[in-house]
Amino acid sequence: MMINVLEYLEETAKRLPNKPAFVSAKAQYTYAELETVAKSVGTAIVRQSPHRNEPVAVYLEKDARAIAAFMGILYSGNYYLPIDVDMPIERAGLIAEVAKPQVVITDAKHREAAASIAPAASVLLFEEMNDLRLNDTEALWKIRNEMIDMDPAYVLFTSGSTGVPKGVVITHQSIIDYTEWVANTFGISEDDSFGNQAPFYFDNSILDIYTGLKCGATVYIIPKLCFAFPVSLIKYLDDNKITTIFFVPSALCNLAKLGMVEKTELPHLKRILFCGEVMPNKYLNMWRKQLPNVQYANLYGPTEITDVCTAYIIDREFADDEDLPIGKACRNTGIILITDDNKEAEQGEIGEICVRGRSLALGYFGDFSKSSEAFVQNPTNDKYRDIIYKTGDLGKYNDRGELLYLGRKDYQIKHMGHRIELGEIETAAGVVDGVETCACVYDDQKGRIVLFYSGPAESALIREVLATKLPDYMIPNIMKQIDCFPYNANGKIDRKVLKTTL
Ligand code: AMP
Repeated sequence: MMINVLEYLEETAKRLPNKPAFVSAKAQYTYAELETVAKSVGTAIVRQSPHRNEPVAVYLEKDARAIAAFMGILYSGNYYLPIDVDMPIERAGLIAEVAKPQVVITDAKHREAAASIAPAASVLLFEEMNDLRLNDTEALWKIRNEMIDMDPAYVLFTSGSTGVPKGVVITHQSIIDYTEWVANTFGISEDDSFGNQAPFYFDNSILDIYTGLKCGATVYIIPKLCFAFPVSLIKYLDDNKITTIFFVPSALCNLAKLGMVEKTELPHLKRILFCGEVMPNKYLNMWRKQLPNVQYANLYGPTEITDVCTAYIIDREFADDEDLPIGKACRNTGIILITDDNKEAEQGEIGEICVRGRSLALGYFGDFSKSSEAFVQNPTNDKYRDIIYKTGDLGKYNDRGELLYLGRKDYQIKHMGHRIELGEIETAAGVVDGVETCACVYDDQKGRIVLFYSGPAESALIREVLATKLPDYMIPNIMKQIDCFPYNANGKIDRKVLKTTL
């Protein structure tokens, strides 16, 4: 029985030592090299810090070195916390304040920033650990033998409605459960090559990283710039003979909107998988028409259940204005739709999508109260402990027994593939000088975040301040100054009324 995801790396390194594992512009490792470098990183961490089962932050650009750092952290008996180097320092600092990592792995270029984000942590430079080729076999094996599959492997921070990002803690067993499902469902092998789009702080990347490691496929980390220059993206996929891509729908839709799909041949591409937000059939149909022999799958799931809990492998035609189902529960995953009165929804009735299984996170880092609101006892079971995760998503089954996604219960949105709590933007905007009251709504039609505010502040100033606090994708696209806000019967800002004024 597998206990630790490092077994994927070690078995593949034995079987295919010279096969390229991760390829990026800055670095590339074969499976054997990846194992060697990871052990060196692991040994360096163990020498630096006596702690186990603690988060170790990785503050590196998105490239193959970050993967070696992740694996090294796992060797040290700790779990990794990727922090985006493009995120404003202030928000990265908020994450570090919550996670309190004892160690941060970075490089010379980001050393100063890393030290300011987590002033109490020891800073280790990746390049030094990479070159030293340390390997304290005894210490690493001792740690390994004491670990269990319920130990965390990573913590990913997502937007938090109260203004502070929240950390989702995921175990080895959840990754293993998921990876086995991906590899079997899509028949991935060492002949495959992934084109990785997802940032490592976003859980879609788990599919590429761990299925690659398990199957001995090569993961090509696509340079970010390619997504701004679609011609170079298509060329990259073609040049590297990519067989499998797992993108957010926004990335696939952009290519379709820019008229790139009709020009695309990609003879090596076998699978287009997507997850993270609604995929409109209008754009998917363009892909299907151009590349009819590719397998397409709509995957669904939040970070809290390890990336994906339902899947629909597309097996029929859809009109442009039809909804694409999110399919059925993945193997070893339970889905229950719970109605507002805490009962299981009847066939065709709408309910909140709730998830059971080994894929569930351990909860939110350091926040037991938030964890116990979202990870609760299954209300349909009064016999034994049966924890479900309440996604906040609404769904219902169609007549074919396929699950349909019907939107959110709360103020979480997906914008350009990113999960955002509108409350986090409001908290950041609310402290700008001259902003008295503010509220954010999402214009789904135009895909724009709109900030309404009252007070004398100039919108340019608000934008300037927000740029120091929030990632680019969270900055409102439109700012509307209004004299007074509409309120509902409970005295809360009436966002429905605000939406009618868009
Ligand atoms: P994240 O935690 O960033 O993966 O975001 C999870 C949320 O994205 C879910 O709770 C849904 O609201 C949305 N989502 C994920 N996959 C899909 C999908 N295939 N279709 C529609 N919405 C999705």
